Amino acid sequence: MKVKKVLILGLDALEYDLVEKWDLKNLKQEEYGKTILPISREDGYLYPEPATVIVWPCFITGMPPKKMGIQTVKIYPFNILYKFYLKYIYPQEGEKKKRSIKDKSVYRKLMDNISNIISSLHLSREPNREDIKVPSMFDVIPNSIHRHIPTYDKDAFPNRGMVVKALENSMYKPIFEKHAIKEFNERTKEVIEYIEKNNWNLFMEYFSVLDGIQHVFYNKPNKIAKFYLMFDEFVGKVREKIDDDTLLLIVSDHGQKRGLHTDYGFYSANKPLGLKNPKLIDFRWIIEDILGKNER
Ligand SMILES: [Zn+2]
Repeated sequence: MKVKKVLILGLDALEYDLVEKWDLKNLKQEEYGKTILPISREDGYLYPEPATVIVWPCFITGMPPKKMGIQTVKIYPFNILYKFYLKYIYPQEGEKKKRSIKDKSVYRKLMDNISNIISSLHLSREPNREDIKVPSMFDVIPNSIHRHIPTYDKDAFPNRGMVVKALENSMYKPIFEKHAIKEFNERTKEVIEYIEKNNWNLFMEYFSVLDGIQHVFYNKPNKIAKFYLMFDEFVGKVREKIDDDTLLLIVSDHGQKRGLHTDYGFYSANKPLGLKNPKLIDFRWIIEDILGKNER
C-alpha cells in the first residue's frame, strides 16, 4: 500500500449502529468498525459522557485527556467547583441510563444555569488550543491543513446556539435544520476545493452537523436518516475524486442514540489498515507512521 496523502473527515456523533442499520456503503468503505474512546477515569477523563471538546483534541494528539491537557468540558479555576458540579448537578453513572431524555434536559438546564453563573463571574471558560499541552499531528506533519477542529480551531460549532434554542423551543427546529444544511454545504464544498488544490499531505475537515441533528431530532429517525444519507453520498463523491495514493479516514468522537452520546466511536478507511477495535488515539500514530515512510 503506497499512501502519500491522508484525508480525514471528522464526523461528530456518527453512530456505528446506524451506519450498519442503513447499510451506508460509502461511509463504511473497505474497513470499518467501532473505536475505543479515551474516556476512562484512569486516563484522567472526568466528564460523564464522551464530550466533543475533549475527545477531538485526544484524536489529533494521540494522547489520553490527562496527558493531552484537557479533562473537563469547562476549565474551572478550582477543581472543587468542578467536582461539586459533577456530583450534584450531573446524573451519576448508574442513574444515567434510567433517566429519560426529558429528565436529562431538566438537568441540563440546571447544569447550564449554574455553569452560566460561574462563567459570568469569569470563574470558568471553554477550553482552547492553549490548553492542549502536547503537539498535534498538524504541528508535526509537514503540509498539513486542518479546518474547524473542536478546541484546536475556533470555528468548529457555527450552530451551537441554535441547537440549544431548538431543544428549548420546537419553533426553532426548522431554522436549526436550515443552519445544519448550510454547514453541510459549506464544509463539503471546502473539502472538494482542497482535494482539487492538492496542496497538502494531511487534510482534516470537521463537521458538527450530525451531533446537532441527532440531539434536536432525537425522536425523528427519518430526519436523522436523511442527513446520514447526505453524508454517505458526499463520501461517495470524495472517493471518486481522490487519487489512489490517498488514505481516506472517517472518524467520529462518539455515536448517538435517543439524543444521548454512546460510549464508542466509528472509523472507516478506504485501504486495509488491519485494525481490530482500535483506540481513537491510535490513529494519530498510524497516520504519522504512514506519512513518515514517504520521507525515509
Ligand atoms: Zn453531542
